[in-house]
Amino acid sequence: MAKDDVELIKNGKRLDGRKFDDLRKIKIEVGVLKRAVGSAYVEWGKNKVMAGVYGPRELHPKYLRDPTKAHLRCIYNLAPFSVEDRKRPGPDRRSVEISKVSAEALSSVVMLEKYPNAGIDVFIEVLQADAGTRCVGLTAASVALADAGIPMRDLVPACAAGKVSGEIVLDLMKEEDNLGECDLPLAIIPRKKEIVLLQMDGKLTKDEFKKACGLAVDGAMKVYEMQKEALLSSINNVRIEE
Ligand code: ADP
Repeated sequence: MAKDDVELIKNGKRLDGRKFDDLRKIKIEVGVLKRAVGSAYVEWGKNKVMAGVYGPRELHPKYLRDPTKAHLRCIYNLAPFSVEDRKRPGPDRRSVEISKVSAEALSSVVMLEKYPNAGIDVFIEVLQADAGTRCVGLTAASVALADAGIPMRDLVPACAAGKVSGEIVLDLMKEEDNLGECDLPLAIIPRKKEIVLLQMDGKLTKDEFKKACGLAVDGAMKVYEMQKEALLSSINNVRIEE
């Protein structure tokens, strides 16, 4: 039974009626910010996340410049109004951590070597949060990078799995994240079948870990298809600049 004895699973269904391997509803929009070079907006369950890419451009401070490649920076921000109790504005340990792991995951697909000395800035703004925001942020950011026309080896779809009331389930929402036993977000490079982000909050046995990873990878592959579809339809809907 979950902490606090809340019944998170009833008759094989989750609180929101999902089966164990169901994703929440996902909507991806491309090219939503006029001043960004590339952008994307993702609604994923009750999460609402915007990503904007600025650059490649002159990098400051200068000491960060690398003559062999561009420097990709990522800033993940949870807006004060994005959560139930207002969050204190500004960076904290959690946002610094998510920014760092997101920059590392994105740097593994962007062809940074094409832009020596330059900087590429990726901003992830969480407008509404309901668990899994680092996965939503990475999903949005890689679409925004592609929208910016920055050469990439692949996209970086992400998805979490976890353990809720003793069951391994896909894509935890807030109540499951709070009261469940474990959350395991991951991000992949589909073409290389490589994991570029893997974190775990909670405990799993070895077998549960394997099952959760498999489920999260399957979820990320579904997200990958949605990312490609969104990018293709944005190319087909030629945008008329104002
Ligand atoms: P993720 O959003 O990637 O799952 P966490 O597991 O750290 O990251 O957070 C789970 C959820 O908890 C968030 O999506 C958000 O809804 C909520 N949350 C995170 N940080 C705060 C905070 N400082 N104040 C209120 N709620 C928060």
